[in-house]
Amino acid sequence: MDQSHHSNRTPTSLAFAVGVILMLGAVVSAFASPAQTCVFMPMNDDTKPFGLVVGADILLPEGKMEDYGVHIRFNGSIGAVAKFDELQTDYPESAVLDCRGKAVLSPGFVNAHEHPAYSYAFPDKNLNPNYFHRDEWRLGVNDKASLPIPERYDFQSNDSKQPAALVAMELRHLIGGATTIAGSGGVPGVIRNVNLHKRQGDTELYDAEVESATFPFSFRAVEDLKEECSTGTPKNLPLRIDGNLNFMAYIPHVGEGRYSSCTARAEITRYLQHVQLRDRRYSLIHGIATDNSDYVLMQKYDVTLVWSPRSNLALYGETVDIANALEQAVKIALSTDWSPSGSFNMREEVKCAKHAAKEAGIEISSEMLWKMSTINGAYALGLEDRFGKIKSGLRADLILIQHEEGDPYDSVLTATHEDILATWVNGQVILLSEMLDDRLTKQQCVKLDSVSPRVCGVLEKFNLSNLEFQNSIKDIVPLVDTAGQAPCEVPG
Ligand SMILES: [Zn+2]
Repeated sequence: MDQSHHSNRTPTSLAFAVGVILMLGAVVSAFASPAQTCVFMPMNDDTKPFGLVVGADILLPEGKMEDYGVHIRFNGSIGAVAKFDELQTDYPESAVLDCRGKAVLSPGFVNAHEHPAYSYAFPDKNLNPNYFHRDEWRLGVNDKASLPIPERYDFQSNDSKQPAALVAMELRHLIGGATTIAGSGGVPGVIRNVNLHKRQGDTELYDAEVESATFPFSFRAVEDLKEECSTGTPKNLPLRIDGNLNFMAYIPHVGEGRYSSCTARAEITRYLQHVQLRDRRYSLIHGIATDNSDYVLMQKYDVTLVWSPRSNLALYGETVDIANALEQAVKIALSTDWSPSGSFNMREEVKCAKHAAKEAGIEISSEMLWKMSTINGAYALGLEDRFGKIKSGLRADLILIQHEEGDPYDSVLTATHEDILATWVNGQVILLSEMLDDRLTKQQCVKLDSVSPRVCGVLEKFNLSNLEFQNSIKDIVPLVDTAGQAPCEVPG
């Protein structure tokens, strides 16, 4: 009995052992052969301009598509967008990266408002949410403690530390999912930069133009509007705007203070009168002091709200009335503002937006948050025909993120650097996972400390060795770690 029992068990144990060995084998080969994540098929002749077909779940403006594909053309634009099988048939000579069932492909985030020249700096130790208007922390008016403005860092600096810091600032945003940042400063040839061409060198730095304004009314709005705010006597404080530039979007800081700040309210009223001219694309940065009647006007006159909840909460202890803004169907674009008071990257901003909405009693869907981070960002800049969505003819600014199950929007919004498979700016690979084939780029890819994807074609552009680069950026906002950013707290 014992014998037969024993002999009966033996084959089972053997089968079990064989099964374990087979499974181990599969695990080992998945690690040993990175192609298991995605299958790469190079071009037969890579001197020819045939481009690359990428297969994945794809986030299009009209919704998510499974087993879909995008043809990235050699000139850096998005070519055909169709079912993966159709693309493979139509472009038999292209290279193929088949990540179907393994990844989601999304347009990169469009960060509609940054201050790249200052966004290497940590928040000041005196940062606090008790300001009523930004002039209080900028100028120390109303007996408030002023916060220091960091030194402006420029690419064309004699100090080699500054370009390295700016390269790191742009890589940080790329790792956080953005492929475009709008604002003054930055470096050419890493992330896509957008701002007005004013100086020599700006045409290389800024891919496209917008007219942004930090002080659209005056440098000292609280002082200039003192009388109006105490006596009610209207003061002539017109918008300082260049009417000759109305072929591009105008995107100013307006109403950067609490709802109870008369100055912040006065700015909003003035601005929302001006936009009724409808002579160009208008957006509105911050607008913390807006209310429901303003949202009605913003929707009516197509003014996009550029929303930076973390920076708002960190400085003023409040942010826009998000429930009413959404109720009135105002277009909203998320942005980080700058590292001294804002999120270190777009995914952190998404987290903060979600939290602020929850505190206001509403839930913003992942698809809506994704839209606020992509399509709406491009719209805020008046550049929606250039980037911000996966559509034939637009620039190939794309992020490929590991995704096997669940909501693909969530995968894109909550990815860590370890989930990044590849990032393309203008059709060029700039971040590349070690799991993907080196032949996806002709550039040199460098592995940086504590960053999962390799960085391709960047450091050599600035004659920086890996060691020089990492030594130059030790004291600035890090590429991945967000622990030092300003808090996203809604006062109870
Ligand atoms: Zn700003």
